[in-house]
Amino acid sequence: MERVIFTDLDGTLLDFQDYSYSTVHPVLPKLEALGIPVVFCSSKTRVEQEFYRQALNNQNPFITENGSAIFIPNGYFSFIIDQSANSEYPVDQQENYSVIRLGETYSYVRSKIQTAREQVSIDLWGYGDLSLKEIKEITGLDSGFAQRASSRDYSETLLKGNKIGQPFKDFKALLAESGLSCVSGGKFHTVMGAKSDKGKAVKLLTALYQREFGTVETIGLGDSANDIPLLAVVDRGYLVQKPGGKWSETTEPNITKIDKVGPEGWIDVAKSIISV
Ligand SMILES: [Mg+2]
Repeated sequence: MERVIFTDLDGTLLDFQDYSYSTVHPVLPKLEALGIPVVFCSSKTRVEQEFYRQALNNQNPFITENGSAIFIPNGYFSFIIDQSANSEYPVDQQENYSVIRLGETYSYVRSKIQTAREQVSIDLWGYGDLSLKEIKEITGLDSGFAQRASSRDYSETLLKGNKIGQPFKDFKALLAESGLSCVSGGKFHTVMGAKSDKGKAVKLLTALYQREFGTVETIGLGDSANDIPLLAVVDRGYLVQKPGGKWSETTEPNITKIDKVGPEGWIDVAKSIISV
């Protein structure tokens, strides 16, 4: 049976602090050799994920900006991905990909954030409000990483501002009225279309894998609240620990908690998959 791994990046495949992939690097070719695709499913942008796809020689589809879109390389599936393959969401062609958009556009998200923060009088700053220098200072990213993170298509991340108390609650309520959600991805909150999440995107992409291969077993890995929908829709969902050895809270019953932090936990799950 075909197996597919859907994985979060930050704090799961990549180290929480420095985004390094050195821990998981040796095991990825083994999964590839077994014909088990590793599909990135992250709040990271398309250009950020392309960086890691290239570094890790990953040629599989990937899910960007917290489930906002699915990028499928042309020729990956034996069938054509166009609007007829999926009538629920817009599908378009961008460079070498078919792109299924589940979320809202960046300009829509930005305009609703602007309106909501003016109404609530709250100071919050996202990528679109900050200079590259400020982004580097806040995120600790170097220029290349900061630039890639700023190249946004569907969502905005709130990098600076007060995210506790009533004003932030009011801000979130206004966004909700505009069909937007504001979820924590660990370090920062991300604003995006409320109807899309990692789980919906994984489900949709799984259906394409099923169309190609018949029965497919899906495996999911994550570390944060925004990964719970992903872990809930896969056959086997694994929650790795955050730095300090704690798990993100979840009431989802069918998620296996791994007793190791981030990539160390990822390796344990991968090894168990390889040995089966
Ligand atoms: Mg994460």
